[in-house]
Amino acid sequence: MVPVIALVGRPNVGKSTLFNRLTRSRDAIVGDIPGLTRDRQYGEAKWQERSYILIDTGGITGDEEGIDAKMAEQSLLAIEEADVVLFLVDARDGLCPADQMIGEHLRKRNKTTLVVVNKVDHLDENIALAEFSPLGLGAAVAIAAAHGRGITQMLELSLGEF
Ligand code: GDP
Ligand code: MG
Repeated sequence: MVPVIALVGRPNVGKSTLFNRLTRSRDAIVGDIPGLTRDRQYGEAKWQERSYILIDTGGITGDEEGIDAKMAEQSLLAIEEADVVLFLVDARDGLCPADQMIGEHLRKRNKTTLVVVNKVDHLDENIALAEFSPLGLGAAVAIAAAHGRGITQMLELSLGEF
């Protein structure tokens, strides 16, 4: 079984930056995995010699109209397809109402979720992590997707059980 990881969160928190970092130099854009549709962006990546599928999503704003509604719908579908959700939040913005809303949805769906606190470059990791503990989702990890910080720990926490 190839694990599926979805990157979910508000726009601009760094989902695509992380997607590109993890799938870089992988030529396969996956389209032929049974049960997966292609409306989200799929990529293949490897961790410790094991392949996994990564889904990038447009983002959820919590204020869904027009194109935002489509984006949110794609995110919800990605959550359903995923074995693990990486819920990205922005350490510089802090905890936002849209984060709370997404967190609530993930709790309700009882999805295996890792809160990924991105953009901790120049910030204290522990303070950044504490800011998001009210989400009540348990495990969290601090990263800087743009610089590669925290990525190994993030992958261990999300793929270790597969
Ligand atoms: P998405 O909308 O969630 O896919 O976010 P993007 O990946 O497009 O990133 C949004 C912005 O955040 C871009 O300007 C990125 O360069 C920036 N960004 C992403 N990761 C980091 C990071 O680790 N640190 C900082 N400072 N900026 C980042
Ligand atoms: Mg993006």
